[in-house]
Amino acid sequence: MSSALLNEAERIAREFEYPAEEVKRGVEEYIRQSNEGLAKENATLSQIPTFVTAVPNGTEKGLYLAVDLGGTNFRVCSVQLHGDTTFSLTQSKIMIPRELMASGTSKELFLFLARQIEAFLRIHHNEHFEAHLRRRRDGNTIEDLFDLGFTFSFPVRQFGINSGTLIRWTKGFNIPDAVGQDVCALLQSAIDELNLPVRVAALVNDTVGTLMARSYTSPGETGTLLGAIFGTGTNGAYVEKLEKVTKLKDMKDAQYDTSTGEMIINAEWGSFDNHMSVLPDTVYDRELDADSNNPGVQMFEKRVSGMFLGEILRRALLSLHNNPEFGLFKSSQNSSVSIPSDSLFYRQWGLDTSLLSQVEADTSKDFTEVKAALKDHLNIEKPSNAECQAVKTIVHAIGKRAARLSAVAIAAVLIHTGKLETENMVDVGVDGSLVEFYPKFEDYIREAMREIPQVGVAGEKKVRIGISKDGSGVGAALIALVASKDDTMKTP
Ligand code: BGC
Ligand code: MG
Repeated sequence: MSSALLNEAERIAREFEYPAEEVKRGVEEYIRQSNEGLAKENATLSQIPTFVTAVPNGTEKGLYLAVDLGGTNFRVCSVQLHGDTTFSLTQSKIMIPRELMASGTSKELFLFLARQIEAFLRIHHNEHFEAHLRRRRDGNTIEDLFDLGFTFSFPVRQFGINSGTLIRWTKGFNIPDAVGQDVCALLQSAIDELNLPVRVAALVNDTVGTLMARSYTSPGETGTLLGAIFGTGTNGAYVEKLEKVTKLKDMKDAQYDTSTGEMIINAEWGSFDNHMSVLPDTVYDRELDADSNNPGVQMFEKRVSGMFLGEILRRALLSLHNNPEFGLFKSSQNSSVSIPSDSLFYRQWGLDTSLLSQVEADTSKDFTEVKAALKDHLNIEKPSNAECQAVKTIVHAIGKRAARLSAVAIAAVLIHTGKLETENMVDVGVDGSLVEFYPKFEDYIREAMREIPQVGVAGEKKVRIGISKDGSGVGAALIALVASKDDTMKTP
């Protein structure tokens, strides 16, 4: 094996080390920034009040529509809640055309979404749809609208359960005219333009949906405390005491039920420590950020989530490729690989995070999985063992840092709420491609949690983490249900 290449790969891997001492500092700073976010607007951690003031207990019933915009796909689903902690879900997924994500107007985007809702209703609920149209033609005004929960996974300043304005786009979306607009109203007008029997009843962040869905499907004595996404982006929503959300006193017009004394807060932890006081940093992180369409924001997310890990890796591998001393994937005496100039290897965002999952899964002696991954993603044939080992070393370092950073956010929320001290078990619902597919992601999170003094071995044991698959669809349905039943939760 080429030892120069391996030594350099190990050196790069060390740049991604994130030791216990720094994890601890990260937690302390997270708690500080989260208190700041509860007290005032425009803090680094947005800590957005969602006006959802209760979590479900599994007995909720009814048929609801939900749509989910925020990752790679747009999803439309209908959810039948059976009222016994189970549900049935019918859904369709549509890839969002790139040009609608990052150019074009909000009108075009939302009309596209409304058309997908129409197609879904036609396929799965045509009887209801036709009946509605008939009644409308006959001048019959009986309202037979579907209540729809809108999962919109971007930072939104909420004014009530079904209204909120977009603060900024993340994860590669960029449609400037939508910023500052009420995204519920945008969706409702597109729906009305197509005459669909649908009312946008609730606006839901995917983390809030995940929290709700987890609480519905596995109700415990204390309910679920935190819903978190580690997917294309990352974020968490948790149950907070109303009295701690001191900035609510500045939102005099908002109406919400205060009887539970709690409210779900959407932390928007993707923007934790945007000013980089405690986050780890490498040259690859810095370059990724500088070349992104939102430099200086979502700094935590850019080190943790799926949209970014592939790009961090690509940049690290490129540095080994461009340096003639190491010549990774550069046909020479060290390598028989040659990469065509139009390869994804040279393109920004060219590497998908699933490559990392595949490489990390390799337990073979002869790099079977690493080779398969390089072939699948980059069409690379016959890499040497040294090249495979170099890739593996760097992948592992990037993935492990992401998991340890995830532990910072999770642990900080658990410590901040005090629940680790008062409860015997704390439930966390998670979703997203990293927790689902990246090998040992949860193990690395747990390992880091044990290193945090306020959690420790005993605290970590109390944490129950469960995947809340399709949580955002079910969660949105649950919130639409609450919103459609409870008039105090509607904005006037
Ligand atoms: C968004 C969050 C969202 C998270 C996970 C982030 O980029 O800002 O609102 O919850 O991605 O989808
Ligand atoms: Mg999602």
